[in-house]
Amino acid sequence: MKARHRPQRSCVACRETAEQRELVRLVYGEQGLAVDERRRAPGRGAYLCRRPACWQRARETSTAKGGGPLGHALRATLTDADRGTLAVYARTLEPAGDATTAHEHAATAAAHTAKRDAGGSGAA
Ligand SMILES: [Zn+2]
Repeated sequence: MKARHRPQRSCVACRETAEQRELVRLVYGEQGLAVDERRRAPGRGAYLCRRPACWQRARETSTAKGGGPLGHALRATLTDADRGTLAVYARTLEPAGDATTAHEHAATAAAHTAKRDAGGSGAA
């Protein structure tokens, strides 16, 4: 009977909230921006979801004053090298490599719909 609390985080680009484990954590350390796959690195972190578009947006807006949402979240000024880090990781997130997740979501939605239809008590 362990009610486990699942930490929620939001993507700095699209602001959608998801379980922490479904997002990718980024940290800004001595080496600059790094993708923290294990979410264990010390320091201030920011989260991005796994949509390549969000990584692109984070990268593009990081040149804005204040570093955009990502720079703001990390309290850091992103460099060209940091943007390169984002670009490289975003390439691993292409939809083709993430088809399993999309499929699972679709299956879940379908199951919900089916359940609701079955529950209709034939008022007609
Ligand atoms: Zn996002």
